[in-house]
Amino acid sequence: MQSGAADALAVVHEHILVCTDCPLHLRRIQAVPGTGPAGARIMAVGEGPGETEDRLGRPFVGAAGNVLTKLLESIGLRREDIYITNVVKCRPPGNRDPEPAEMEACSHFLDAQIEIIRPDVILILGRHALARLLPGAGGISGLHGRRVVRGDRLYVPLYHPAAALYQGSLMRTLEDDMGKVRGYLDEAEARRRQPAQVAAPVRDAPASAPVVPPSLAEPLLRLVSPEPDEPALRLGSPDPVEPAPPEPPGRDQLSLF
Ligand code: SF4
Repeated sequence: MQSGAADALAVVHEHILVCTDCPLHLRRIQAVPGTGPAGARIMAVGEGPGETEDRLGRPFVGAAGNVLTKLLESIGLRREDIYITNVVKCRPPGNRDPEPAEMEACSHFLDAQIEIIRPDVILILGRHALARLLPGAGGISGLHGRRVVRGDRLYVPLYHPAAALYQGSLMRTLEDDMGKVRGYLDEAEARRRQPAQVAAPVRDAPASAPVVPPSLAEPLLRLVSPEPDEPALRLGSPDPVEPAPPEPPGRDQLSLF
């Protein structure tokens, strides 16, 4: 990857490490900017650091992190090739949910990371990251495993690995969804390798996927089906607010090893 991107990412990390823009800095041990190469083709975005992450300065290093690593390996990906970060870079006290003002204060860092890395696919881990990255798109129970195109970005919402630790049925769902991610990556890779003059932009759906007429689509938002025989979702307006799924246990409890 070009050193320019790596340098730019390093600058973002430096700013995060000394940031005091929201109250979360008051009780952190350290900020957790993110890990992975600036040239990563895949980015994974979770909610926020937990106890172990706060202590070690790296994201997804507890039990949930182990689940994520195994899921990535199940489709032939190495964790060290993925850029992993969170919506907020400092641990919310007691592992509570980050507050809207905290997510807003921190959002420019995530925006900068995405802009620098420009990944082929962004894996959205859990409902809080979904709400931050795709506001109004719908709930995680309806979108998990599907690819969502907004602007020139391709996202795949997934259940948070922590949820699968304590709700066994979600593990199978996560594994199935990761299997779909493999196919999305292969398509993205093929698209990127196409000659520039014939390359289809990311925002163009594959031929097999129905295209939502602009008049029906939410601006710049379109969902395409992960399977040719699965009907595409059409978003004329934001989905109704979905009841919150069972909250996974606090990240402290998940940092078992
Ligand atoms: S959570 Fe984000 S905005 Fe808040 S202090 Fe940490 S780096 Fe700064």
